[in-house]
Amino acid sequence: MLNIQREPAPRGGSARSHLAALVLGLVVVAMVCHACAHEAPEAAGTEGARTAVSPKAPSPQVLATGGPSSSAALVASGALSAAPAPPKLPLVTLPDEGPFGVIDLHVDTPWKVHFKNRPLSLPEGHATPELLQRGHYAGIVFVIYLPDYIHDGHPTIADADAIFDTVDALVAAHDLFVAAAAGPVPAGKVAVFPSIEGAGAFADDITQIDRFIKRGVRLVGLVHNHDNRLATTATASKGGKGLSELGRAFCERVYAAGALVDVSHLSDAGFADLVPIAERAGAPIVASHSNARALRRHKRNLTDEQLKIIGATGGVAGVNFYRQFIKGGGAKLGDVVAQVKHMVEVAGIDHVAIGSDFDGGTPVAALKNTGQLQKLAQALLAAGFDDGAVRKIFGENALRMLTWRPKSS
Ligand SMILES: [Zn+2]
Repeated sequence: MLNIQREPAPRGGSARSHLAALVLGLVVVAMVCHACAHEAPEAAGTEGARTAVSPKAPSPQVLATGGPSSSAALVASGALSAAPAPPKLPLVTLPDEGPFGVIDLHVDTPWKVHFKNRPLSLPEGHATPELLQRGHYAGIVFVIYLPDYIHDGHPTIADADAIFDTVDALVAAHDLFVAAAAGPVPAGKVAVFPSIEGAGAFADDITQIDRFIKRGVRLVGLVHNHDNRLATTATASKGGKGLSELGRAFCERVYAAGALVDVSHLSDAGFADLVPIAERAGAPIVASHSNARALRRHKRNLTDEQLKIIGATGGVAGVNFYRQFIKGGGAKLGDVVAQVKHMVEVAGIDHVAIGSDFDGGTPVAALKNTGQLQKLAQALLAAGFDDGAVRKIFGENALRMLTWRPKSS
């Protein structure tokens, strides 16, 4: 049953009804999950991991029919007519042969530099220039992470500006880095795509997100480990609420301005609330750094129903190497491969990517930094994935998300 060839995902003629059925299943799952929210804090980087466990998601019968389908049939017209001019398409060339070009959807190096005193020269950490070259990185999403804890629990939009300046300073400090928003990225360079993680501060003025997207932000996550005025989080939410009214308007605004909402860290109820908004915008759903809950029962991971919805909208889920989201303390390379296999089996080969969480969470020992990525490529080949499938997972699927634009533009 494992589709690990490079062929495109099957295209369904009834994508809308299929998605509606999936959403119905998701709502059931969300209701079940919210009935039970244990928490047990555990120290680990930006993930601030919690070992919360949710009941195993039921698998509604309706989900057994049909695989991932195109998002084309989901596009709504008119909703984006007032959108501001989107930024230029970032052009990144991925190799067709030889080492597998990596585009990583979630790396927290800016957090280390901005908040943890790592020098801009990056002499250490998971993503030094030397390691990125050894791992054959072609693109990297540098996260503008707004910690819930700063300013007595009140991060501001000004903080997001300041961390964005740190991302730009990193790009300026290294010949290897090129801002993807600036135009075509030469082969051999690493394209830098900014994202936002924990956008609660934008509740002060949601219109401010427009200029961040114009400046190059491609993915926007509404929450981190605490609920905020936009949405509830996977790891702290105790109620049945998902997106607030303001949160819904914010998501519509993100899509209209040309970026994508990132559902990693979002509660199950928030995920369910986002689906019709994404559908109206014709936007794929992205989870930049989340694994399969079926293999690791953690609320930061995705249910099979959510993985199917991600596939049905044409989106991706980025495999997270943080050991707590793979299997637990004893996670090995084979457990990462098992996560990839399951995610591909459920979402489809076009819908799984890399979202390492390097410089954020503690990775599995076998993938201890960006220099180790080709080891994972070899392990996937040994597990039966073909060359083309690995290229999709390593870079092509992520690039499709990062170059997404509203249909009306
Ligand atoms: Zn995270």
